[in-house]
Amino acid sequence: MTTRFVIIGGGPAGNIAATYAARLGADVTMIERDVVGGAAHLWDCIPSKSMIATGRAISRTQAIGGMGLETVDIDVDVDGLRSRIEAIKNKMSSNTTGLLESQGVRIVRGTGRFLGPNTVEADGVDGIELFEFDAALVCTGSRPRIPDWCQPDGERILTTRDCYPPHVFPESVTIVGSGVTGVEFVHMFSSFGAKVTLVVSRQQVLPGKDPEVAAVLEEEFMRRGVKLLMGARAVSTERTADGEGVIVRCDDGRSVESTHAVLAIGSAPNTENLGLERAGVDVDSGGYVAINQHCVTNVSNIYAAGDISGKLPLSSVASMQGRKVAEHVMGLHTRSHRHLDYDKAASAIFTEPEIADVGLEEADAFSSGRKIRVTKVPFATTAKSMINNDTQGFVKIISDPATGVVLGGSIVGRQAAELISVIAVAVTAGLTVTDVAESILVHPALSEALSDAAE
Ligand SMILES: Cc1cc2nc3c(=O)[nH]c(=O)nc-3n(C[C@H](O)[C@H](O)[C@H](O)COP(=O)(O)OP(=O)(O)OC[C@H]3O[C@@H](n4cnc5c(N)ncnc54)[C@H](O)[C@@H]3O)c2cc1C
Repeated sequence: MTTRFVIIGGGPAGNIAATYAARLGADVTMIERDVVGGAAHLWDCIPSKSMIATGRAISRTQAIGGMGLETVDIDVDVDGLRSRIEAIKNKMSSNTTGLLESQGVRIVRGTGRFLGPNTVEADGVDGIELFEFDAALVCTGSRPRIPDWCQPDGERILTTRDCYPPHVFPESVTIVGSGVTGVEFVHMFSSFGAKVTLVVSRQQVLPGKDPEVAAVLEEEFMRRGVKLLMGARAVSTERTADGEGVIVRCDDGRSVESTHAVLAIGSAPNTENLGLERAGVDVDSGGYVAINQHCVTNVSNIYAAGDISGKLPLSSVASMQGRKVAEHVMGLHTRSHRHLDYDKAASAIFTEPEIADVGLEEADAFSSGRKIRVTKVPFATTAKSMINNDTQGFVKIISDPATGVVLGGSIVGRQAAELISVIAVAVTAGLTVTDVAESILVHPALSEALSDAAE
């Protein structure tokens, strides 16, 4: 009998699960209330990285002096930028829709919710429709977290979602939150010429990251004239009396005024009004759905994946969870299936320089007393970095001193997000530093720093 698989949410977790399960022979229905591709296409990965790429083009153009060219004045065309983002978003969403339909996935436009442990209702433009399922996946994503001390107004006090598509570029902006999203927004707005202040609640941007990596970014921010308010926790945001600005006040008495403020303090899961209680699915006090290593919830035929699972909030992780869910639903986990290991997920921060890492971090190895070998090679040693007129950054590889097995690594510098793939494959496949060092890579290329770090 064909497995009836119903998915609520069409972000990366939902659409990858749908594609794989359909390929494996399931009868798949995906319910999506907004855009196929999810928040990842609509608000997060695609628009933010498109704007960052434009910002990067500005800063690279400003730096062409060192390449034997003359600098030029650059005008930002906000309408052009908006159309570019819309075009990429629409193309990505139509590609995803086309792929799903070609696999025979039925896409239902509407809001999904559970009516019981085997029934989902979709409330859409064509009215209410009921679906019986053998297995269901809930992957409804997350939204920006809004604390009680702040009321975003969509005009001057903004969440990250209010920044897309761009309508105006702030003259000055205060970013609250110095995690991945916060620092990417600092980089983006400063590239577009805004005067930026970053409120950093600890003594380091990117709390929890390798301090050596964070220090490179702090230095770059200072070079760009970004004001860092270290050790300050924002406690209120209010519009100025003339309504033209925003004052962000901090717990240590400091305050900063700018034309706009952006909140980047994390996300909250979309698990309300889904009827999870009717299906018997538990959520924790933060609203996240607990899952086991196969993404199964406390109800054996209901899975959860993506941001609502409270694991790493990354599109890449959501997609891989979706794939593993499809394999489990179709019984493949008993054969060729490899468990998902969140500790081996690569991630990147799209600032300038780019930052990427994977696997074991140096600080974690030291705190657990694990013996490691750390090798670090600056990009400045490669011919390609000089050709690129950008010698900033380094490659760091962490390996087991006894076996040479690659355990992790970090890369700071141009194309770090691409280059980390080599270390990620080595970590996932259990390759040794010799495997990496003996791979014949391209010359001249930044990857030569990788081979040297593996020596
Ligand atoms: C500013 C920003 C930038 C980011 N950049 C990156 C990046 O560069 N790389 C990266 O890997 N990650 C990035 N992320 C994280 C990434 O966007 C998320 O981890 C990813 O979108 C999670 O995927 P998901 O499938 O869980 O949910 P989502 O992408 O949020 O999709 C969930 C979908 O479910 C739908 N939905 C919700 N409720 C219902 C319902 N009741 N019925 C029907 N449909 C429903 C929503 O409309 C949505 O389409 C970024 C996040 C932010 C905030």
